[in-house]
Amino acid sequence: MKKVVKFGGSSLADAAQFIKVGQIIRSDETRAYVVPSAPGKRSASDTKVTDMLYRTYALAEAEEDFDSALSAIKARYDEIIRGLGLAESLNLSDEFEVIRENFRNKAGKDYAASRGEYLNGIIMAHYLDYEFIDAATVIAFDAEGNFDAERTNQLMRNKLRDLPRAVIPGFYGAKPDGSVQTFSRGGSDITGAIVARAIHADVYENWTDVSGFLVADPRIIDRPAQIDTITYTELRELAYMGASVLHEDSIFPVRKEGIPINIRNTNKPEDSGTWIVESTARKSRFTITGVAGKRGFCCVNILKDMMNSEVGFMRKVLQAFEDQNISIEHVPSGIDTMTVFVQQDEFIDKEQSVVSEIHRLVKPDLLEIESDLALIAVVGRGMKRQRGTAARIFSALAHVNVNCRMIDQGSSELNIIIGVENRDFEKAIRAIYDIFVVTQL
Ligand code: ASP
Repeated sequence: MKKVVKFGGSSLADAAQFIKVGQIIRSDETRAYVVPSAPGKRSASDTKVTDMLYRTYALAEAEEDFDSALSAIKARYDEIIRGLGLAESLNLSDEFEVIRENFRNKAGKDYAASRGEYLNGIIMAHYLDYEFIDAATVIAFDAEGNFDAERTNQLMRNKLRDLPRAVIPGFYGAKPDGSVQTFSRGGSDITGAIVARAIHADVYENWTDVSGFLVADPRIIDRPAQIDTITYTELRELAYMGASVLHEDSIFPVRKEGIPINIRNTNKPEDSGTWIVESTARKSRFTITGVAGKRGFCCVNILKDMMNSEVGFMRKVLQAFEDQNISIEHVPSGIDTMTVFVQQDEFIDKEQSVVSEIHRLVKPDLLEIESDLALIAVVGRGMKRQRGTAARIFSALAHVNVNCRMIDQGSSELNIIIGVENRDFEKAIRAIYDIFVVTQL
């Protein structure tokens, strides 16, 4: 049994958090490969070290004085080192001298940000007495900056083959010329998944500050129920609608190998958290696994008599969006009508170009745009072949006076997407949560 354990920034924000992490790792000897993030916020008003690094580097790039900004970062690490009782044996002054020099030489924004994880990795390895591996030597990007999954897998596998325990900092790797490149924000999750794939881990544990995924957004529902087990596909649907705990791209490496992800809470290690799996025989606690949604969509309604018999009509309409590089969310349609849902902020500046192109391409009888809509995804493997799920959703919405503007159910029966007015968004989520969760508890 081998586990990869990734710890997020809030789990490593200060020495007290590091001590909790040390206890978690030492309590299970299969926790052999550790992927740390950079120190995160110690309180709501605090600043993540990654953000401090970006700001400090911006000063360096503008050739302004960045000494005190860099010293403030060093102070955060020194405090951790002291708090762990490592001050005698570990000193990062030389590392900071190198960083200062590289900032002066404008080594790049990615290099700057990556130092957060790099330095935390050095401390973590020292604290645990594990081997430290600089991620620049095992995570490969190509010359254009695209992540090279297969080369990375080779490098990582070769490196870890003879190392029973190691710390690999998250978030960054290097291009063929050696320059450092990072993933997008929150990318340490991806590093953890890459390490898990390379060593064929039994589990990828992702430790954070919540006990896993919740059935609904806690900003809308007071203390929502927790999801015990969720499939990758369900997670994709919910994550797309804004439910975020894990970086989206971290699913691909482990999914390839059938490795489950276990989201765990560093502050409540006794909680079993959420399991993210390829497929499961476990029934979800409720008919739905989760409900999530986003505001800020608009739709373009197109009407034309005999639309249904005009070959290529739909393609031409969609072409107008493609030409303006606008991605499409949903396209519900009728015999003589079709509607295209798009994200409002992406669409608004280009709307008139899209409208005139639709006119040119398909000559509709009527075209109108509606704005300020929200989309809600009701997701669950338990909905498949269940009678009455849609009926329950719509009667719950009717009951609270919410008008449903759009309905879209994928053929997988894994999700039902509902469009409502922005102002009804929270009311709708509450009604759906109530009917599927509260009444079933
Ligand atoms: N430290 C990086 C960030 O703040 C990466 C991570 O934490 O995963 O985005």
